[in-house]
Amino acid sequence: TITVGVLALQGAFYEHIQLLKKAADQAPPSEWQFIEVRTPQELSTCDGLVLPGGESTTMSLVAARSNLLEPLRDFVKVDRKPTWGTCAGLILLAESANRTKRGGQDLIGGLDVRVNRNHFGRQTESFQGPLDLPFLGEDAAPFPAVFIRAPIVEKILPHREGIQEDETRLDETVVAPSRQARDSVAEAATADHVEVLATLLGPAARNATESRDINPDEEVGDIVAVRQGNVFGTSFHPELTGDARIHAWWLRQVQSAVLKRKKLGQ
Ligand code: GLN
Repeated sequence: TITVGVLALQGAFYEHIQLLKKAADQAPPSEWQFIEVRTPQELSTCDGLVLPGGESTTMSLVAARSNLLEPLRDFVKVDRKPTWGTCAGLILLAESANRTKRGGQDLIGGLDVRVNRNHFGRQTESFQGPLDLPFLGEDAAPFPAVFIRAPIVEKILPHREGIQEDETRLDETVVAPSRQARDSVAEAATADHVEVLATLLGPAARNATESRDINPDEEVGDIVAVRQGNVFGTSFHPELTGDARIHAWWLRQVQSAVLKRKKLGQ
């Protein structure tokens, strides 16, 4: 049985579970189990994890109170198990995020990116639109992407280098805690780079392998889906649509990660 958890501290976790169940029918045959995760013990049973949309500051505070922050960091960066964050979940998986009026929050990290937390403005500026997701297959129909106070990836950070050195706006920034202890383990693994999987405007997908500032006027558009090794993040909320294609795609990633792990005897 492959166990997939959804962090259920706050936000749209119920919706994710529903859509994961629907997607399991489209994913390759496996025994799937989907569970709500609220404790380190529950997390330890998971082969993959989803961090839902919601409010990242609240989610992070509750995670800290539940003693989940360190186990979550280990899950993502040491065990390197498949982890997908949507919206608030993407913010928590970023190594760097801007502060908002509500302050900063403890990040989990795992994606070498800086996110802008409320890029599109307030609740009233939320919107839905068709989005090309080339990773679903070139001829796949556009995805009905829902953006609610959505973050975007505004910068791809230098791989595995000190973020501090790179950040010029530290007073406005929260960063995931030093990865030194974890990095010695993580470093031994592959040097995954950040892949841009989808952008809101401009060319559909491109690989970004080096550190760069994303110029808002640039053709590339707003980055709304990225992957770095085992970590996947989307700005929008596939869990709020009936469309299970991304969930099915991600379950396939989870399945191959589990198979790989088995082969390595871990
Ligand atoms: N911008 C929100 C935050 O900072 C996330 C919004 C969402 O998940 N819909 O947490």
